Amino acid sequence: MQRSFLIKPILDEVYPVIDYGKGVYLVDLAGQKYLDAASGAVTANIGHGVSDIIEAMNEQAKKVSFVYRSQFTSEPAENLAKKIANLTPGDLNWSFFVNSGSEATETAMKIAIQYWQEKGIHTKVKVLSRWVSYHGITLGALSMSGHTGRRARFVPLLEDFPVINPPYCYRCPYQLEAPACQYACAHELEAAIRRIGADQIAAFIAEPVIGAAGGAISPPKDYLKVIQKICEDHDILFIADEVMTGFGRTGTMLACEHWEVIPDIVTLGKGMGAGYAPIAAAVASERVMEPILAGSKLVMSGHTLSANPQSCAIALAVLEYLEKYKIISQVEAKGDFLRQRLEKLQNQFSFIGDIRGKGLLLGIEFVVDRTSKTPFPRKAVVTQKLVDLAKEKGLIVYPAGSGIDGVNGDAIIIAPPLTITEKELDELVGLLHETFTAFQNALGETAGVF
Ligand code: PMP
Repeated sequence: MQRSFLIKPILDEVYPVIDYGKGVYLVDLAGQKYLDAASGAVTANIGHGVSDIIEAMNEQAKKVSFVYRSQFTSEPAENLAKKIANLTPGDLNWSFFVNSGSEATETAMKIAIQYWQEKGIHTKVKVLSRWVSYHGITLGALSMSGHTGRRARFVPLLEDFPVINPPYCYRCPYQLEAPACQYACAHELEAAIRRIGADQIAAFIAEPVIGAAGGAISPPKDYLKVIQKICEDHDILFIADEVMTGFGRTGTMLACEHWEVIPDIVTLGKGMGAGYAPIAAAVASERVMEPILAGSKLVMSGHTLSANPQSCAIALAVLEYLEKYKIISQVEAKGDFLRQRLEKLQNQFSFIGDIRGKGLLLGIEFVVDRTSKTPFPRKAVVTQKLVDLAKEKGLIVYPAGSGIDGVNGDAIIIAPPLTITEKELDELVGLLHETFTAFQNALGETAGVF
């Protein structure tokens, strides 16, 4: 058998072969149309087949597709870095371009460690993170990820970085509510720092809205501010992993902006190339770059294809497209519209436990019983069942949470292209309704046990 197995190599299951994409739709070789309510993996943020991007791609290919980054830079790379610096808050001025989100977070980790080393401090090498988090699949990124499922096979090879509880308010381990809780989970960071010693810790990394592992878990109001203050008080850098949330997904260029927090380093990916190019970035502030520029002047990271002009030109075109059509400023209203429609579905289907998220990054968590929040048994693989049922109906949703691992329940993410229209949002909700009806019928047939 000759097959690509970038995707799950389940040999008895043949995945549809996608022929083309247009706007929010994908069409496979058999002619089946899918509404892409997940933007792939929260990546195709401006939809498929956008001619502005295709033109920019062609123009750059005609000029130059690749320059060796150790000896040259290119106009697209420099212009992209400038644009990112201008569109992000504070002085996040230094973009280090790579090819995937995992490389971006791993680069951020290396920059953080190097920051302390350039200042003559060599013990600060640990990066603290949270359970129910995902920062990438490379070993450094996995070491920082609180995603037990994806870590499992590699634990002996991973750094034993400490992890704290996430702000998973739906299932608060303290059984408290924000703000009365005084952000007890954020204060776990302080306790961990005291236990381990700030002199051992380079940085704390967190996704502002938890994506793959949690299903769009958005933090309560002052959580990130408390986190940032703790980092400042203990001389620890704060890395915001915005690989999923950056580039406008939640209604602002960076999700951190909602909570008025400016990280020391931010990682971008996914929506950056919007699926048209493999490109990601670790973006560092002036403060972080200062000792590096005064010291070795060389960030010890990078890959052959880092900052290649083709990818940078595409990311630049994506940003220009977002600006030209004022897309980011419409995200919150579209997100509110979608959330209201999802809440209506919640009234109809008792297995919808929680609806959460920010902007057009929304999550739905499923439970056996809404009052007790009892999760479905793991063996029922509910997330996968819902993803499969949706696909049968012509709808693509993103499996998150314990469907893979992480939260106690099952969760999916609904994150359509930011360009989706109201009519298409209606269609999305209609297909979701059909999916949930089919799921309810399946539940009935199995008396809820599968
Ligand atoms: N960080 C976050 C927040 C992510 O969501 C992901 C991908 N799901 C990554 C890092 C890793 O990105 P990639 O798959 O491009 O390596």
